[in-house]
Amino acid sequence: MSEPLISLHDIDVHFGAESNPFGLFDDETTVRAVDGVSLDIGENDVVSLVGESGCGKTTLGKTTIGIQEPTNGSVTYRNQDLWKTRRGEITDGVSYSQIRRSLQMIHQNPGSSLNPNKRVIESLTRPLKKWKSTLSREEREARALAMLDRVGMKPPSDFAYRYPHQLSGGEAQRVALVRALLMDPELILADEAISALDVSLRIEMMDLMLELQDAFDTSYLFISHDLSNARYLAEKAGGRIGVMYLGKLVEIGPVDQIIHNPTHPYTKVLNWATPELELDSEMQGHPPVRSIDIPDPENPPSGCRFHTRCPDARAMCKEYPPTFDTSDGGEVTCYRADSDHEYWDSEPLEGT
Ligand code: SF4
Repeated sequence: MSEPLISLHDIDVHFGAESNPFGLFDDETTVRAVDGVSLDIGENDVVSLVGESGCGKTTLGKTTIGIQEPTNGSVTYRNQDLWKTRRGEITDGVSYSQIRRSLQMIHQNPGSSLNPNKRVIESLTRPLKKWKSTLSREEREARALAMLDRVGMKPPSDFAYRYPHQLSGGEAQRVALVRALLMDPELILADEAISALDVSLRIEMMDLMLELQDAFDTSYLFISHDLSNARYLAEKAGGRIGVMYLGKLVEIGPVDQIIHNPTHPYTKVLNWATPELELDSEMQGHPPVRSIDIPDPENPPSGCRFHTRCPDARAMCKEYPPTFDTSDGGEVTCYRADSDHEYWDSEPLEGT
C-alpha cells in the first residue's frame, strides 16, 4: 500500500474512562470497546471487519471515519491527524469539513440517514447544497437523478419524489448509498448495511457496491457479523478480512489466508460457525472451542482475551496478552504465530 488513506495507530476506545481520567478509582465500569488496534486503509481498498456482536467493530468503524473520538491513539487522514484538525490544532492542511465529507457512512437501517418527512430528492440534494454550494438547484437535482438511475432505480423520477416509507428495504438502502456517493467519498463505512435485506438482495447490493467502488474510486470498510458476506465482498474486491474479538483485532489478511489458512484459533471458530464456507475437511467436525460462553466485555479475561475459550491456550496465555505479530508475514495476535515463542514451552491449560 502506498500512503494510506486512513491510519489507526494503537487505538483504544474505553467508555466510562472519561469519568475516571487518571485511573484513580475502581475502573470496573470501564468498557474497553476497542483496545490497541492499528489498521491502515488505502485508496480503493476493501476491508471487511467481522466478529461476534459486542466485539467493538462498530465502535472501530466510527473511530475510523472520525465520529468516535479514541481514548488513546491517533487517527490520521493522509498522514494528517484527524482529531487535531477537528480541534483546530492543525490549520494548514486539509480542513476538517473536507475530511468529514470524504468519510461517509451507510447504516444497517437506511431510515437512520433518510428523513421520514422528506422526499428522496430532498434528502439527496440537501447535503449537496452544503458541500457543493456552486451548483444550482437544477444541477443538484440532475446529479441526484443521474445517481438514482446509476444504481438501477429506473426511471429515477419514479423514486425521487417518494417518501422513505414508500420504498422497499433494498430501494432505501440504494438511496442511502447514493446519498453517500454524491459526496464523492474516499471511504464509505458500511455498518451491517446489507444485514436487514432479504438474502436474495444481499448479493445484488454487494455487487452494486463493488461496481460503484470501481466507478467512483472509493474504499469500503464493510462491517458484518456474517463471515460469508464479509468474504464475498473482500474476495471480489481483492481486499482483506479483519477479525475482531472483545475489542482486539486478532487477525487480518487476504481472504485466502483467513478462510483457508487461518492462524488465530478464534478465526477458526468463526470459519467453523459459517456453514456456507465449504471448509477444508480438517476444519470440519466439532467446534474448535473449549467454551461457547462469551466473556463479559466489561470484565474481559486476563492475558489473551480468548484464553477462556481457546483450545490451544497455555499457561502464559492466561498471564500475558500477545501483541500483534507480523513476524511470519501474517498479521495475527496469537503466540502460535511465532514458532520460536516461549509459549510452546508453557503448560497447556486444563481442558485443552
Ligand atoms: Fe489461544 Fe494463546 Fe493464541 Fe490466545 S495467545 S489465541 S489463548 S493460543
